[in-house]
Amino acid sequence: MGDGEFHKKVIVFAAHPDDAELMMGGTIIKMIDAGWDLILVDLTNGEPTPYGSIEIRARETEKANQILGVTKRICLGLPNRYLHRSLRYRKKIAEVIRAHRPEIVFGPCGKDYHPDHSAAWQLISDARFEAKLHKTDLQGEPYWVAKCIKYYSPNKMNSAVPSFIVDITDVWDRKIEAVMAYQSQLHAQTQDGQPVLIDHLEAMGRFYGRSIGKKYGEPFLTCEPVGIRHINQFFGGLL
Ligand SMILES: [Zn+2]
Repeated sequence: MGDGEFHKKVIVFAAHPDDAELMMGGTIIKMIDAGWDLILVDLTNGEPTPYGSIEIRARETEKANQILGVTKRICLGLPNRYLHRSLRYRKKIAEVIRAHRPEIVFGPCGKDYHPDHSAAWQLISDARFEAKLHKTDLQGEPYWVAKCIKYYSPNKMNSAVPSFIVDITDVWDRKIEAVMAYQSQLHAQTQDGQPVLIDHLEAMGRFYGRSIGKKYGEPFLTCEPVGIRHINQFFGGLL
């Protein structure tokens, strides 16, 4: 399939505003810059947090959107801190999938100290299946998402070997700028005065970048095996 034949329609789901920026902000920038039709869906508004408020977080999200180039972003208004595997939440997410009909869905990899991050993936995976069912009370027409891809969870560096790593070296500064938009979430600092979160991202970005011979990388896990036409595609654009 040529690049021009690919529909390039994507939903990035996140438990909280800033999760997507933290874990796949560089990849989001690259998809948008390439003209992909991307919608970002936050399951909750992320509040309360120690230094944030609903209003502050919304302003920070708007600023991050401008930096990323995101023009479509919605918040489903599910309860922050209390996401869980619920039929009502699953159906709400499934209706978003039916409405936007993406070819690829991204969500957080399940293992994480924060229960919302773990529950988010379970809900997204369940909703993917729910969206394809006939004879339900869901809004919209049945739809199956072809590809499901997991980004690593924000609160725990996943030790699993990634299925692939995106070279984000060229957009690293924009990714950090987008994360820095969430000033209310950056109060914890290292001994040299850098936000702990940025320090963590730097270490993670360099680690995964180094493993593909680049400066910065973002790791992903695919739910299904990745099919290729020829072994030379295995090397992608990195040769
Ligand atoms: Zn989060």
